[in-house]
Order: sequence, then structure tokens, then C-alpha cells
Amino acid sequence: MVGKLSRRRFLGVTAGAAAAASGGSAATARGLPDASRMTDGSAPWFLRTRRWVQTNLNEQDPASYDAGLWSDYWTRVRAQGVIVNAGGIVAFYPSRFEWHHRALALGDRDLFGEIRTAAGKAGLTVLARMDSTRTYEGVFRAHPDWFARDSKGEPFKGGELYTVCVNGPWVNECIPAILREIAERYRPDGFTDNSWSGLGQRQVCYCDHCRSAFRRAASMDLPARVDWEDPAYRAWIRWSYARRTEIWDAYNRATHEAGGPDCHWLGMCQGEPSRMCEDFRDPYAIWSRSPIVMLDWQARRTGEGFETNAIAGKTVHGVLGWDKLVPESTALYLGPTRPMFRKAAKPEPEARLWAACGMAAGIQPWWHHLGASQDDRRQLRTAERLSRWHAENEAYLVDRTPIATVGVAWSEANIDWYGRGESATRTVAPFAGVAEALGLHRIPWRALHADHVGRDAPELDVLVLPNLAAMSDAQCAAVRRFVEEGGGLVATGETSLYDEEGRRRADFALADLLGAHATGEHRGSFEGAAASPWASGDGHTYLRVTAGATRPPALEGFEETEILPFGGRVEIVRAEPEAEIPLTLVPDSPQSPPENVWMREPRTAFPGLVLHAAAGRGRVATLPADLDRCFGRDRIPDHGRLIANLVRWASRRPMPLEVEGPGLLDVHVYRQAGRLILHVVNLTNPAAFRPYATELLPVGPLRVRLAMPKDLRPVRARRLVAGGEAACTADGDGVALTLERVLDHEVVVLE
Ligand SMILES: [Zn+2]
Repeated sequence: MVGKLSRRRFLGVTAGAAAAASGGSAATARGLPDASRMTDGSAPWFLRTRRWVQTNLNEQDPASYDAGLWSDYWTRVRAQGVIVNAGGIVAFYPSRFEWHHRALALGDRDLFGEIRTAAGKAGLTVLARMDSTRTYEGVFRAHPDWFARDSKGEPFKGGELYTVCVNGPWVNECIPAILREIAERYRPDGFTDNSWSGLGQRQVCYCDHCRSAFRRAASMDLPARVDWEDPAYRAWIRWSYARRTEIWDAYNRATHEAGGPDCHWLGMCQGEPSRMCEDFRDPYAIWSRSPIVMLDWQARRTGEGFETNAIAGKTVHGVLGWDKLVPESTALYLGPTRPMFRKAAKPEPEARLWAACGMAAGIQPWWHHLGASQDDRRQLRTAERLSRWHAENEAYLVDRTPIATVGVAWSEANIDWYGRGESATRTVAPFAGVAEALGLHRIPWRALHADHVGRDAPELDVLVLPNLAAMSDAQCAAVRRFVEEGGGLVATGETSLYDEEGRRRADFALADLLGAHATGEHRGSFEGAAASPWASGDGHTYLRVTAGATRPPALEGFEETEILPFGGRVEIVRAEPEAEIPLTLVPDSPQSPPENVWMREPRTAFPGLVLHAAAGRGRVATLPADLDRCFGRDRIPDHGRLIANLVRWASRRPMPLEVEGPGLLDVHVYRQAGRLILHVVNLTNPAAFRPYATELLPVGPLRVRLAMPKDLRPVRARRLVAGGEAACTADGDGVALTLERVLDHEVVVLE
């Protein structure tokens, strides 16, 4: 079994990738459009449009839109598609509907029509941009029943705009009518939509449409408040998701009927599943059914690194597939700091590093500008160099199969039914902590949905479940099969302790694999400092190394310490006798004044780490101490190192990529027919975790070793950024090469 498995698993090369390598197409085999069509003009727009420009028009733009300036810009950044406002909040064309607010400066002009014609003549794909859940007071006065209401009957407002109800006539009739009008009159290739899903999980609409529709659907009244324990709220959550997915399908029916089968309505999506969930945009349902994902994930937030963009790319592609495109609206105005300066230019290094991380994870550029007039002309130069590079090298940047033998799982059930309004702490931080730790330690990994464990298992050596507490029996069965067939597992926190509805089980569903059982108790809390029993303690906890002089490989690098800093929450578990417990909890104690700083209870039997290596199965590491969440929060180096150690320990083979040399790097490897493609993004920068990067600082030399599939013996390594070739030498079953200098990023093609 192991021999058979390891051949299938070799380097994570799937049957699909093998088919692609031998000239066939994985996509065709799965009934999707043939990837080879992506390189010729016959491919549908959503498979061939790889660089986008969006001029996000405002009410005054019809008076001064400079067509020459923007068509020149399209050429300079090698745009293949444009996204331009058509209707919704504001109509930029003469709509026949009196309730469709026309741009203040529109007059007799048909600005959308003009831009659509100019872009069409330039051979560009055109998406009509909508914003379909808000409108003006005049419409509210004329049609008060179209709008969302709070429990007191007051309308929801944002600034001067009123929020419509997603169950009312605006969404059911008006928007489809607008979509048909635009599709029939202008024949855009498709539609995007900014705020299509309306109110989110924290705001119940009590309008008459919602009251009656919810009663019909659920046989109960709307929930009185946001309360995840309330059956009515839980029913409302499910009903609200289903409604948004129904709207997605209904808008697509309208655009397909009026604009043809390729005229897709694509809404917009966030790059982080929990953010999708907050808006009832079901990430799995939407990414599974979309032919392309238009990603509204414009910039990093303060405190985040650039690699956040690569994490988004992997997460979306994990569901969407890697043979499809994920353009990302990239803000070229000054953000994400607050306030955002929507009319000022972002420094080029900040935009470049964000976009380069995205490109390394299969994201395509979509340069986003607010307003047609740009007083800060620098904004129209920022993207030019990188966008031209993308155009010259695009064949290597799309339709690739990732080579990553570590999979990190997530699910919307965990976000909602376990997270229950606290997903940022309970589910997002653990996932981010694992992702950041693997990235920091240059371990290639992929994101996968918890329903895809069976599907993706042949490509994986190690599965990581970062506090994947809510798991269905089927998901647990897939994980069990994976470990029984030799796959390694790293599980943290309360993984598998709840069912898919968030109901707590008596024990971990995966207890047999983990070699550990739940006791129903825990120490510490998700809140950390607030729960400290010591007035000045602040969660001053540690993990004690229990091993003697010979330490297990999982603790490599910690030879000179008997403790590791902790500061998180421990699920108290009872380990099976055969399991190893290399770390135990040291509970909270005062951290001030210095005279008081001594461990009140220096040793306990509470496991912080459990290692379980049953014969004939893969290795399993369980972290009842939630170091992943701690690393996502604090980036304490020991936490990241331990997570990386556990992943390497659980994997029976070395990682397919090793990169040596100083610097903060984000690395990715892909396979295309007859070649491997390596991305190294250099994030070494004083602004690595705080905007704004204002200069690029080179690193190098970097020594790279790549394992090679048996059918690939590359003889050259072309550098797509620095140019020329890197010397490439055989090294066992792989190749070695040196990158002398990487400024912002390098892409190496080995063939
Ligand atoms: Zn309503």
C-alpha cells in the first residue's frame, strides 16, 4: 500500500497534472473548458482575460471623463479587460426606469455605453459593474416596502444611502430588470457587483417581506436578536445563506437569458472565508459554481504581511480549481490605513509586493482607481512595470498545479457553527497562525476545504486541522482514511470535538487517531489576559519540556530550554498510554512585581503536545495548547518553529522545496506540462507587517533545492524577473540552484 501510495503521491503530482504533462488536459478530463484554449482567442473571456483595469466612476465623472487618458492607460498596463460602472446605486447610462438614479452629471451622455464601445474596439473584455443593494432617499420615499428595517421599523442607512431588503422587489424585480436592460442594450461580457448580498449576520431585517418569507420557510418568527444559541437565529442564518445563493443563481439566469451563456454575473468575493460568511456569501457554494472569482481583497490590513494575499489566492483556488482565474481588485489609492486616501497614490513598493504575492498564488492583476479624474498622477504609473512583466510572462502564471504536500483545512461550518460570531479568535487566527508559520519556515502548503480531504489526499503527505472543531462524521472518516493510509496529521485545540452543527461531542471524533481524549475541561481562554486568575498575571503561562537529554525531532531547536512561552488556551486531554507527551502546561503565575515572578505550579500533567505514532498509520501530532492561534495573534517565534517542526515530523518525506539564505520569503512551486515553476517573493522589508513599504531591499544568495518528479529532468532554470539563467545541477532525486539576488520577487522556470 505504501509503495502504491507513494508513487501516486510523488511530489503531489495528481493524475490531472500527469495528464497535463503528457499533453492531455486535466481540465478536459473534469468536464471543464480545455486549458489549452486559454492561450488562444477562442477561449471564453473568463479563461483568457488576465489583466484588468477598473475606473470606478463617480456621479461627477460624466462631465469630465477623459477617454484618451484611460485608453492610453489600458495600453500602458497591457489591460485585457475593463470593469466600469453601469448601474445599481447610480446609472451611468440613460436607463428607462425612473427609480434607477442617474449620475448627477450624466445629462444626455451615455458614459457607460461610450466606454463599452471604446473598450470593445480596443479588443478588451468589458464587465458592467453594479452595486445592487443600496439606493437614494427618493426611491425610499416612493417605495418604502423595498427597504430593510430594524426591529423598531427604522430603515438601515449608510451615509445618505438606504439599504434595500434582499427579499423585496428591488432584488427580485428591479435589479434583474436593470441587468436585462444593460445586457440587451450593451452586450457586456459579464457583470460584477459590489455589495450584492445586503445586510450581514449581525443585522436581522424585520421588514414585512422577511417576516412572511421566514415564517413560510421555517414555521417560526424572525429571531429577536443576534444570538447563536437561539434556534430561530440559527434557522435564520441557514435561510439567509440559501437566499444569497439563490440571488446569485437568479441574477445569472437573468444575464444568461439576456446576454448569452457566457454573460456571467459574478458579484464580488472577499479573500478570507470568514469575511464571506459574515455577509452570507457561502464561500464553498459560490466558489464551486463560479467560472471565475472576482476578488475584492484590495490591500493588506494594518498588522498583516503581504503574504496574506497569497493565502487568499490559495484558499480560493482550493475550491475553485487551479485551472480558473482569480482577478483581484488591487487598490492603487492609499489604503488600508484609516482614513483611506482614495485619491492619493500608494507607494509602488507597497503595491508591487502585495501584487507579487498574489501572482505567486494564482491571482491576476485588476488595477483599481476611484474616479476618472486623477489629481495624483502617480497613481497611473504605479502598476505599469509589474503589469507589463505580467503580460510578458503570463503563460507561466496561470493554469498550474501546485506542488505542496501539506494541506491546511478550513470550513464554513467551523467558522459559523463553532465560531458563533467569534470566528476571528476561534477559527481565523488558528488558520492564519498555521499559514504564517509554514510560510515563515518556507514550507509549501495548500489550503483545502474540509470536504475535500478525500479528494486532495493523493497529493498530500500531511494534513493540518487548525482548531477545526466542527467536523461532520464524513469529514472525520476522510481524515481517518488519510492517516490509515500513511498520511501525517497535525491537529490543534478542539479539533473534531463538535459536529457540523456546532454541537459538542462527548469526545474528539478523532480521539483514536489523536491518542487523546477530551475531559471537558480547559485552562486559559480564547480571551487570554482577561481570564487570568492573577491580578497581574496576563496569561503568563508556559509549556514545559518533559523529555530528558534526548529530545524528539519535534523539539529540534529547543535543546537549550526547558520551557516555551505559551499564553493561550489548553484543552485538557487524557492521552493514551502509548502516546508521547513532550510538553506539559505550566499554569498562570504573576508577572509583576519581579519579586513575585516565580512559577507557583512549575509542573503539571496537562499535555500541551501529544505525539501518536501507531504502527501502520501516519504520525499524528495534537496540540491541545493552541499555539497556532497564539502565533496568529502574537507571532512568538517558538510557536511558529514548533508548528513547522510538527509538520516536518508528521511528514514521512522531506518537503519538496528547501530554500536557504537570510530573509523573509514567501515561496511557491507549481507544475505545468514539462516544467516546474518556482516563485520566491522577497518580503524582507521594515514595512513587512506595517504599511507602507517605500523601498525594495534585495536578498541573496539563496540556495534552492527542489525535488523532481521522475519524468522531469530539467536542464535549465530561466529567471523571469532578473533575466538569464541560473546554474542548475542535479542533486540526488532533485535539482539545486542558487539565486544570487532577489529584489521584490523572482520566478524560475525549470524545464
Ligand atoms: Zn427584509
